[in-house]
Amino acid sequence: MRALSTLVLLALIAHTSAQLLWPVNQLPFRLAGNGTTAGGPGVHWKEKRAPRIAVIGAGAGGSSAAYFLSHFGKLKDLGLETDVTIYEQADHVGGRSTVVWPWNDDPLSDPRPLGADKNDTLYEPPVEMGASVFVAANKNLVKAVSAFGLELDAYGGEEGQTAAWDGERWVYQEKGSFGWGWWSKIKAVWRYGRSPFTARSLVKSTVDSFLRLYSPDFVSQGAFDSLANFSAATNLAAPASHYADEYLTHEGVGELFTRELISAASQVNYGTPITRIHGVGALVSLAATGATSVRGGNRRIFEEFIGRSGARLRLGETARVQSVLKLDGTKDRRAQWLVKTVSGVGGGTYDAVVLAAPFHQTGIELVNTPAPALIPKQAYVRLFVTFVITNASTPQPSYFDLPPDTRMPNEIFGTFTTPSRHKPTFNSLNYLKALPASIGARFGEGTFHVVKMFSSRSLEPEMLDTLYGAGNVAKVVEKVWFAYPQLAPVRSEDDFAPVRPDEGLYYVNAFERLISTMETETVSAFNVVSLLLNDFFGYTPPTSWAEWDDGDA
Ligand SMILES: Cc1cc2nc3c(=O)[nH]c(=O)nc-3n(C[C@H](O)[C@H](O)[C@H](O)COP(=O)(O)OP(=O)(O)OC[C@H]3O[C@@H](n4cnc5c(N)ncnc54)[C@H](O)[C@@H]3O)c2cc1C
Repeated sequence: MRALSTLVLLALIAHTSAQLLWPVNQLPFRLAGNGTTAGGPGVHWKEKRAPRIAVIGAGAGGSSAAYFLSHFGKLKDLGLETDVTIYEQADHVGGRSTVVWPWNDDPLSDPRPLGADKNDTLYEPPVEMGASVFVAANKNLVKAVSAFGLELDAYGGEEGQTAAWDGERWVYQEKGSFGWGWWSKIKAVWRYGRSPFTARSLVKSTVDSFLRLYSPDFVSQGAFDSLANFSAATNLAAPASHYADEYLTHEGVGELFTRELISAASQVNYGTPITRIHGVGALVSLAATGATSVRGGNRRIFEEFIGRSGARLRLGETARVQSVLKLDGTKDRRAQWLVKTVSGVGGGTYDAVVLAAPFHQTGIELVNTPAPALIPKQAYVRLFVTFVITNASTPQPSYFDLPPDTRMPNEIFGTFTTPSRHKPTFNSLNYLKALPASIGARFGEGTFHVVKMFSSRSLEPEMLDTLYGAGNVAKVVEKVWFAYPQLAPVRSEDDFAPVRPDEGLYYVNAFERLISTMETETVSAFNVVSLLLNDFFGYTPPTSWAEWDDGDA
């Protein structure tokens, strides 16, 4: 009987493999060395002065690139100094990692006067408007938090119930508010059989193999100029080249669990159901156990990176880069790059440019270089993040067609891939916190809550009134993001942008096509810095910054 069921299982897997475009153990592209059609490394640096590097963008990628450059520049007797200038068009550091005080008249300004006591008890800390959480496996961020003396907050929300909603019914309900890692808590739900365990062990082996990239063995083999090679080396090529539902089925995760719950995880993390996202997107969405965030905002990590790098920071609209022109080199001299800002102020000539923003969103004209043709157009998920200040302690049961006395969850994840005819109107809803009375009093009597919602459309006032109850919505703050790439399966090597599209031009956000998180942008920045140092000085780091044993901060 046991042999028979094994045979049936094997037959099922074989059948599934045959249906896939590429069997999961076979890559859709052939790996060829580390080369691409992009520009080469150029000749080694021969001048006495330190190379001038322009970093465009001060988010996770750009800020960490500047920091890693300064880290290597400080190593004694190695001659790896660089002279770094950062261009950031926003008036703050952090990019998609930023915070908001939705209860204030000016939600984007820090209400605390400069230099105010950090322990001021009247100060209400902000909430994350963009990238919210990271996990213990995110070694660069975890090291930064401890090295820079920042504090962590568990990312959760108010006490209450968590549930997944498919537009017609709760597919899952659990007592307790778990925040991002709720699906990892699912253990004994008989409907799903062993699927939660299978999914968890799949996530664990993916995380374990990803963690290798910080090790001396991995880093000392040299930097990658091709994301296809990187994903193969970290065992991510197979999940990256298949839709998540196909991949998970092949790996033995049941369809019910995948469509009801894993889909809710990919929806809240990447605004995309498992039928339209690649396997890496789904696996990363599930790897959320122990999610935390930095007290006062994750962007504080990136402010620290820049502050400690000693790099020049050009901030604000006048620092928006308009064009980058390649000045050809010779066989003995490296190419240079002329960076111009929209204001005409603060541009300059650089020996390398690190582009740390999604190229097609920057409005930058790249001139005299094949780079624009080598960076594939990448669609991003349009995501609405809405903060609601309400005196309703939960959403209204009537919105969900439930009897008035129903005990309602205050953390709801939408799942869009069940057979239900009606689909949820939002991706997620989370009661973040109750406002202190001193602030709540601005809106009226009673307790006011801050609720964060994700959706693919703007939420109409009428809809919010029905969801929270007429007259219960005191304030709404909305932010529209081009949040992360639409992560369709990677079908060929050319789906990835090159990491070095031309001599002296490096592209951090090439990594986002594989996965988009704060941590992986710092991983990509480390790889870019490692590639740059190799191109200029023939230097290869012996290990990652996360594993660097230097007591350095
Ligand atoms: C709502 C939301 C939720 C998310 N949740 C999470 C999460 O929980 N955990 C997680 O790890 N990740 C999350 N992410 C993804 C994460 O935010 C990104 O992967 C990461 O922050 C990208 O960092 P980056 O530095 O590559 O790009 P960005 O943060 O986009 O930084 C690029 C910077 O370049 C600047 N720039 C652009 N053009 C120019 C120009 N021409 N001149 C000068 N400057 C320019 C921009 O102003 C920007 O500051 C989330 C994203 C969003 C939007």
